[in-house]
Amino acid sequence: MALALMASPFSSEMASGTARGTASVTSLSTTVIDVVEVEARYQLGDALQIQARIIPNAPLAEAFLFYQADGATTEVLSITPDSRGRFDIQIDLSQHTIPPFTRVFYWFHLVAGEGEEFTSPSYWFDYLDNRFEWQSLEDEAFRIHWYGEDMVFGQTILNTAHAGLKSVQEIIPLPPNPPIVLYVYANANDLQTTRRLASNSWAAGYTNPDLGVGLVSIRPGNEQKLEAERQVPHEIAHLLLYRWAGTNYANLPAWLVEGIASASELYTDPDYDRALRSAVTTDQLIPTGDLCQSLPQDPSRSFLAYAQSASFVRFLHQQVGTNRLQALTQSYIGGLGCEEGFQQALQVSLNQMENQWRREALSQNLAAASFRSLLPYFALLAIVLGVPLMTLSLFKIKAKNRGSTNHGHQNTPSQGSLSQDGLSQDPHSKTQ
Ligand SMILES: [Zn+2]
Repeated sequence: MALALMASPFSSEMASGTARGTASVTSLSTTVIDVVEVEARYQLGDALQIQARIIPNAPLAEAFLFYQADGATTEVLSITPDSRGRFDIQIDLSQHTIPPFTRVFYWFHLVAGEGEEFTSPSYWFDYLDNRFEWQSLEDEAFRIHWYGEDMVFGQTILNTAHAGLKSVQEIIPLPPNPPIVLYVYANANDLQTTRRLASNSWAAGYTNPDLGVGLVSIRPGNEQKLEAERQVPHEIAHLLLYRWAGTNYANLPAWLVEGIASASELYTDPDYDRALRSAVTTDQLIPTGDLCQSLPQDPSRSFLAYAQSASFVRFLHQQVGTNRLQALTQSYIGGLGCEEGFQQALQVSLNQMENQWRREALSQNLAAASFRSLLPYFALLAIVLGVPLMTLSLFKIKAKNRGSTNHGHQNTPSQGSLSQDGLSQDPHSKTQ
């Protein structure tokens, strides 16, 4: 009896199985064993159940289930049908981790009693985070998923995503096709589980650019809008860079990737500026060459590294413009090293540019910071100088207009007197 079927897992017609759907196998003329009523169910990070039935219900020598998350290694399990020819396969996802948001392919390999072998077509399901009741909004550029908030929130995220995309494209013009998918978690704990499950396959941060899916956690509350304006553009930048670089994404220097992502944020963390100033004054800046492979793990150094990367990329963008920044990124995608790619694309060494950045961008920051830190003293100075000068002014006015009507109180003392010293500018206006 011939049992062979030519269906190979990935070249055969692919049943479009969904996570909870049922896919039936198309029978081929040479098939004498078939697999039907194939169904996959899962709960993220908990359990995966795959059911199927073989027809006819003939004895098997061996049976195997193969499954493979997109981009991961193939796993195989020995399986046994029950007396009715049904498979009911339970996979403990806490032990056999599948990265979330991947497409999982699976297929059956059966060995009949006579030794003939049969490989079923391949089925798939998308392994999504089904712990929450996700709501969705989408347009031509984005698909936004969130839970625990209303449609207004979803629209706000969608609007922020568009503004974020524009912000990214001002630095480096990357197209958003196909649509970018964002999952917005309501808190860091919920997201943490997803990150933990994905820890083996995700390189950094909250993003899994490999999947074309961005993950952010935005808590309800006063900071919600600012958090969205910070996180959403950051993740979009990662995703677009990954789409462009593909498998060479890992070759992009960490300072460039995180710098572009951080510089794209619509709301910049004000502590970045403080961290930079502190590092400049204490001579603790991290050499950019040390940020090529990765950013430091230590939280305070990591924060500084993000601040530096954002500042350096912003400076670089100002200096060389969008096209040459794109050429620089392309040189890294092409496989050149961190220093080598820089020199080749920009005709200047990374070290030289870093020195220029330290001189021009950071010293300016420092000067501005020093000015801001002196503002209280300026205010004090204004008061200290204001009183005697006011007295002096009044004295002069009185002396000059002796005998005439006194209008000296029409102006406040400090306004009247300080303007004479060329200090009429309100120092606070420079910080607003
Ligand atoms: Zn990042």
